Amino acid sequence: MRGMSATPTYVVMQPTTLCNLDCAYCYLPFRGDDRRMPVEVARAVAEAVEPWARDGRFSVVWHGGEPLAAGRDHLAALIEPFGAGIEHHVQTNATLIDDAWCEFFTEHRVRVSVSVDGPRERNGDRVTRGGKPAYDRIRRGIEALHRHEIPFSALCVVGDPRPGLATELYSYFLDLGCEVLGINVEELEGVNRRTNRHEAADVTAFWAELVSAWRHDPRIHLREVEWTLRFAAAVLDGTADEVLPRHLDPIPTIAQDGSVVLLSPELAGFKDPRYGDFTSGNVLNTRLGEILAGAAGTPWIAEFLRGVEACRSSCAYFGFCGGAHAANRYFEHGRFDVTETDHCRNSKIRLLEGVLDHARDHEPAAIR
Ligand code: SF4
Repeated sequence: MRGMSATPTYVVMQPTTLCNLDCAYCYLPFRGDDRRMPVEVARAVAEAVEPWARDGRFSVVWHGGEPLAAGRDHLAALIEPFGAGIEHHVQTNATLIDDAWCEFFTEHRVRVSVSVDGPRERNGDRVTRGGKPAYDRIRRGIEALHRHEIPFSALCVVGDPRPGLATELYSYFLDLGCEVLGINVEELEGVNRRTNRHEAADVTAFWAELVSAWRHDPRIHLREVEWTLRFAAAVLDGTADEVLPRHLDPIPTIAQDGSVVLLSPELAGFKDPRYGDFTSGNVLNTRLGEILAGAAGTPWIAEFLRGVEACRSSCAYFGFCGGAHAANRYFEHGRFDVTETDHCRNSKIRLLEGVLDHARDHEPAAIR
């Protein structure tokens, strides 16, 4: 994998900066403000992505703030300019989901991913703007999805990965009835300055235990584990070089005002004396394709690509990881041309080691 592709496979759209919750680990800087995306922004993006969607599968991920806080009518107006072949996804805290939202998801064929961190006692960081626990509201939203037989994915933030936790979490998500589960070890980024440094052995054991729990009952697609197993299988059959894409996906994030931040949605809304506001342009005055074609000239992106090359030449995990995410480098080290971060240790290096530990314990012949 070298450099950045000029053609994304998806865009992230911010229909509003507002979130109705105030989670302790949230990275978003303007989540208390209700700044909504004008429909002109959605029209400009829809026009730009149309040729990319013609050539293959293309997704729009509505990600806030809390995207449902934009309201059904406004979200419908933002979706409307996109062609029928585009897949729409929404990442939501689920608290606003009711029967009317479920009908909306069905009518607009929106795929739903909910954020929930496991059983009630693991959701202590998730509170309303008034500081009240959000868990019951999250569960009510998920119950509405079940009533309407809408399949959903789940995203779980883990603040303290350690042995004993993974089995409990996996069992919870089996009962919850999600189809796909993503596990995010909490990251130090944006306005969240909580440490994400953990004992290496604890994090590795967490991932190894998660593999065991999943293999015992693999009804859920477990994003990180399935990806890691795919990579391990490719190493064994000599095709590991084909697992990562040839170029980095630019992942354009279209902020509420039409400004475009590439590679890491978490950088949107931040400013730095060296890098400015991290944007590469605005779809209201430049076509998205042109923004992407000129993106290597954005100073922080050039620095990040040098960091990826430093990873390639120094890190044994590069073939699996591909250099991880720009935002983690910036928020942990204040620059982009560094290599290891606590994020990549937790979510790349120890993930792979955990899966390999599981294999050594259960199928030693396979990795000898
Ligand atoms: S694991 Fe960390 S150091 Fe290694 S390639 Fe990934 S980001 Fe770079």
